[in-house]
Amino acid sequence: HAKKQGKNNYELSKAELHASNFERFHLENMLRKAIKEEQLELFYQPQVNIVDEKVVAVEALVRWRHPEYGIIPPNEFIPIAEDSGLILEIDDFVLRKACQQIHHWKQLGNPIRISVNLSAQQFMQKNLPDKIATLLKIEKVPPNLLELEITESMVMQDTKMSAIQIEKIRALGVKVAIDDFGTGHSSYQYLKNFPIDSLKIDRIFINDVETNRNTKAILNSMINLGHDLNLQVIVEGVETEEQLSNLDSKKCSAVQGYYFYKPMETGRIQELLERKG
Ligand code: C2E
Ligand code: MG
Ligand code: MG
Ligand code: MG
Repeated sequence: HAKKQGKNNYELSKAELHASNFERFHLENMLRKAIKEEQLELFYQPQVNIVDEKVVAVEALVRWRHPEYGIIPPNEFIPIAEDSGLILEIDDFVLRKACQQIHHWKQLGNPIRISVNLSAQQFMQKNLPDKIATLLKIEKVPPNLLELEITESMVMQDTKMSAIQIEKIRALGVKVAIDDFGTGHSSYQYLKNFPIDSLKIDRIFINDVETNRNTKAILNSMINLGHDLNLQVIVEGVETEEQLSNLDSKKCSAVQGYYFYKPMETGRIQELLERKG
């Protein structure tokens, strides 16, 4: 993807350029094979209500279980998947797997909402709402147990088209969250009329909340904003008790972070749901 790499390319020697292209090509082929051979799988990270510490939902986070290299995190292959278009297949896989999981846990008596990350490419597919409608039917999933996460940057690329997509998705009964809130091309403008369900505040607003008064002010005003807009507010990346104590827990619907749980394999989530259920 020459355009995206832009001017940095000129700074590379021919040999380096060749090597990096070769590596990309290699990784892309490995990823193509991984999709075909089902080496991708979903981990799930609980979102926890601060007051009663109950798990209110889980976020699906894709992992690549490579036969030689072990578990590869998404940041190492999603960018390549986005450049090569493979991301559409990955998102399809993740959506289907998440829906099957919702159905399975529901059958076991633990109906729990799963939140799924969408790529910009997937979000902009005209047929996405139809695809989701079909999926919900085939996998027998109650729509309100599925939530889709999009980012501000995705919304800001084309606010009109985004509003239409979100409306169609929500008309199915599926929920929509804004992920990494506060880090994209933040604009309050879209919040005026956008039909979303929740805001997920990015973890850069919790990182240094104990030592930086500005961070604390921004974090809590974002929590207040979401609350006053009647949205669910989820704070991401809470790692310590001190961080937790710095946020307005009455206005925050849930937190998602290592302090409570890391992303876990399906089996461990199931144990957790059964224990708490
Ligand atoms: P995200 O959607 O913002 O997901 C949250 C990320 O923060 C996850 O990283 C999670 O493991 C991490 N995290 C959660 N709590 C903590 C914490 O307390 N401390 C720290 N340091 N990190 C925490 P992960 O799983 O590596 O995913 C990274 C990103 O990759 C995701 O960010 C999302 O943008 C993307 N991604 C993950 N799964 C998928 C997928 O299925 N499809 C697409 N298109 N993108 C995905
Ligand atoms: Mg997310
Ligand atoms: Mg996030
Ligand atoms: Mg994200």
